[in-house]
Amino acid sequence: MSSAPAIRWILTVLLLVLTAFAADPAHAAVHVPLRACILPATGQADGRTAAMLFTQPQRFDCAGKQTAYGAGDYWVLSQPLPATGDAPLRVRQASLWQTRATLYVLYADGAIRRTGFTSANAGRHLRLGAIIELALPRHAAPPVRLLWHVEGALNRRGVVIGPTLIDRDAAAAADMTMAALYAAFAGMCLALLVYNLALWAALRQAFQPAYCLMVLCLLGYAFTSSGLLGQITGIDNNDRQRINYVLLAGSAAAALVFARAFFERRVFDGWLRPYSSAVIAFVLLAAAAYAGLTPRFAAITDLISTSSYLFVITLLAPILIRAYRRRSNYLWVFGLAWGAPVVLGSVRILAAFNVFAWQLWIDNSTLLAMALEAALSSLGVAYRIRLLSLERDAAREQEIAARLLAATDPLTGLLNRRAFLDGAIGREDAHQLILVDIDHFKRINETIGHDGGDEVLRLIARSLRAAATPEALVARIGGEEFALLVRADTPLDARAVLDRLRMERMPFDLVVTASIGTCTGTLRRETDWKALYRCADRALFAAKAAGRDRVRHGAPLAQVA
Ligand code: GH3
Ligand code: MG
Ligand code: MG
Repeated sequence: MSSAPAIRWILTVLLLVLTAFAADPAHAAVHVPLRACILPATGQADGRTAAMLFTQPQRFDCAGKQTAYGAGDYWVLSQPLPATGDAPLRVRQASLWQTRATLYVLYADGAIRRTGFTSANAGRHLRLGAIIELALPRHAAPPVRLLWHVEGALNRRGVVIGPTLIDRDAAAAADMTMAALYAAFAGMCLALLVYNLALWAALRQAFQPAYCLMVLCLLGYAFTSSGLLGQITGIDNNDRQRINYVLLAGSAAAALVFARAFFERRVFDGWLRPYSSAVIAFVLLAAAAYAGLTPRFAAITDLISTSSYLFVITLLAPILIRAYRRRSNYLWVFGLAWGAPVVLGSVRILAAFNVFAWQLWIDNSTLLAMALEAALSSLGVAYRIRLLSLERDAAREQEIAARLLAATDPLTGLLNRRAFLDGAIGREDAHQLILVDIDHFKRINETIGHDGGDEVLRLIARSLRAAATPEALVARIGGEEFALLVRADTPLDARAVLDRLRMERMPFDLVVTASIGTCTGTLRRETDWKALYRCADRALFAAKAAGRDRVRHGAPLAQVA
């Protein structure tokens, strides 16, 4: 159902990514990644200290990990800058949790100028991808080296990470790439959201609101983690990261809720349900703790929130094993949709534990993984809806079969007495009732046996159905007694019915005859029916009395108003 738009969106995202990356090098006049060396800061930052430090690069640690130093204030020195011509330059770096960063720029003539930002005004310097960009102050001589003084660094990922020297064109190209990525992601999320909300309104399945919530959280997370929230509202950059954590946790929790609602009940039965509830609660509480307590208990809050994602990953194996053992219909679709985000999520968690260094692609690939997850989950939703509709069709068929079974006489396939009465009583117009009773049926049974008698009943039934008009109600209302009901203005002659019966070839070429009594009247209420039946039955009795194998019409009764 939703597979076609989902695939279209995936292709759109991929196309945008490819064209954006393909366009990048053509514009990149200056795009130089910088190496950063670190020195813990003691005392106040001022121009003189910076001037001093520019002359003492040997004091900086270039080999160790920045994160090994923990939270605090730091100096960070770049390598000597390459010559890049006169174009005005900027420095980009990943946005991190810090109170203030001052950037000192040393120029070829020995001058030092400074710029910088605080967490409160970082929004002004934020670019898409949550990258901080600072323009180097204009000066007559070219810049030769950079020195950051960072205060209040949380330093969970580093103090200055991904520093890059870049010119206007390269910056614009990078912005374009990011804008394309985020726009594609946001567009896809919005489309999936609207589409699945509409489906929810139509189908009312429990997994649908969970899916919508997950997509909404992803959209919110993309909005804050891209830095767009900071650009638009100018919110404190550290507060933006608090919101970021909460929305990421919200996405993970909603994804788990979705998984639980998506699979059959049996997959989460037993300990897995309370355990998954505990993980959901843990993820949310950890994010709330991080948002509320950082930076005061930074080391603990960061560890707790990163660990909570580890627990999400630990849920995966039991879910997959359970789904396999309990023969879930959704195992493959779950594996398909969650494969990429789980692998990338694991990579991110390992990166968060500093198993390996921060890299731009890890941050950016998260977006792609989430896009894949949201889009492929919608394939899962479509698949689930397909199974639902198959189940519903089967149930409807069963219901129809059951109703048919309750309404039919199993021997002849004609309506039974109750279904005949249900269909007859309440009709408005005058109707003709034709009662058919087989002559000397007891004798037929005695001659050819009970099974033979049954066969005679079936043949009579078939011949009555053939003789009647398509709209006529034809029923077996007793052992060897049949009834036909047609509108009075329908030309169905009882004599023709009898002739048709006589033509039927019977077992052992037995001659089987029947007597018919008819009567015409209304059957708006049950009393009408009783009167009509009595009238036809009297006519039938008359036919029997007159020697059988004939038709008698009942005298029309006084109509009951
Ligand atoms: P009449 O001409 O007066 O109608 O005589 P009859 O023998 O047809 O009438 P009666 O009502 O005395 O007998 C009906 C017989 O139909 C009795 C019963 O054994 C037989 N019968 C009723 N239901 C079935 C059935 O389902 N299968 C068979 N083989 N016989 C049935
Ligand atoms: Mg009979
Ligand atoms: Mg009878």
